[in-house]
Amino acid sequence: MAKPEVTAEKKDVKKSPPPPETDRAQLMAISTLEKIEQLGLKPIPPFYELWYRYFEGDPEIVRAIDGYQGVFDDITCHKIYKRYLSASARDDAVRKVSDQVQQAITELAGMLGNVQTATTEYGETLGTVTEQIQKADSIEDLGQVVTSIIQDTKKMVEKNQELEVQLTSSSETVSELRKNLDNVKREAMTDGLTGIANRKAFDKAIHDTIEEATTNSTPLCLLMIDIDFFKKFNDTYGHQIGDQVLRLVARALVDNVKGRDTAARYGGEEFAILLPETPAFAGAKVGEMLRKAVESKEVINKTNNENLGRITLSIGVAEYHKDEGISSFIERADAALYQSKKAGRNRVTSAEPQPPPEKKA
Ligand code: GH3
Ligand code: MG
Ligand code: MG
Repeated sequence: MAKPEVTAEKKDVKKSPPPPETDRAQLMAISTLEKIEQLGLKPIPPFYELWYRYFEGDPEIVRAIDGYQGVFDDITCHKIYKRYLSASARDDAVRKVSDQVQQAITELAGMLGNVQTATTEYGETLGTVTEQIQKADSIEDLGQVVTSIIQDTKKMVEKNQELEVQLTSSSETVSELRKNLDNVKREAMTDGLTGIANRKAFDKAIHDTIEEATTNSTPLCLLMIDIDFFKKFNDTYGHQIGDQVLRLVARALVDNVKGRDTAARYGGEEFAILLPETPAFAGAKVGEMLRKAVESKEVINKTNNENLGRITLSIGVAEYHKDEGISSFIERADAALYQSKKAGRNRVTSAEPQPPPEKKA
């Protein structure tokens, strides 16, 4: 099986532990400040975030900045920030289509109003007919009444046909826009790189599943998953291969969970899985199955068929405790994941059960 690779990586851990997080963070902060000063940019939070993410190695930002040929002034940096980092970037797209649907519905309502007016007028005309017939003294008079009814009816038919055409085209526009809206909404919930649920979708799913577990008193499990030594993999083979690995892991996760479960990219090389109606021991079993599924795959460089070895996952499992907040639930799964890392990676750890609340004296 995959044991030799795994053992080798475990040895690496003992020999050279990764640099402490705070040191790396400090280095990135210093590089960010220097860059902002060197480029003469305004010292505002979006630019700090942009350059910090760049030095952190956020692949999208690195690609955007390294691929840009011009000068990095305030306008350019603002554009890149808005495109990739502004939380509202995708929400804007949803709002735009929503506005279009709203506008089409207003137009449709206006047309329906027209139909109503025309029908009412026609009704009023018909209402006067009885009176006109009673007043008619001759055949000619009656003939005129009939002619005017025919004319009004013809007008009504024409108006109705016109409205029918307008209504058909308008309802087609509405359904087209609704489709667009659904697509934009789906896109806003999907991770662009891996095609699975993104962080926003996860945030919604954890909220909904906790509510469901609470209402129905059913167990709910959360798995936090992190790729082991991914930075080393990226540094050795490049970001594109790294991206391929992220897709491979995402696919393995989605393929190994059931329909009601949510597998999401939580951020960077971290994933999260929500398992409704699943207690801790069953969640740990799923984690173990996922760990094995990824460990058993060999990463092949598609361009030259080179075998790049295997990658492994560290996983933390927590079962939801009644009345616990979302952040506490995630923190417990995260802490279990950290334990997996500390114990040598490529393993699944279950969170300690929460101590029962202290009894009041
Ligand atoms: P550990 O086993 O402790 O988790 O080590 P690690 O190297 O996986 O963790 P670290 O947090 O040091 O590095 C994570 C790396 O993930 C850094 C970053 O380059 C990479 N990464 C994050 N997002 C992406 C992405 O979208 N594409 C690629 N190719 N790499 C990414
Ligand atoms: Mg990580
Ligand atoms: Mg990692």
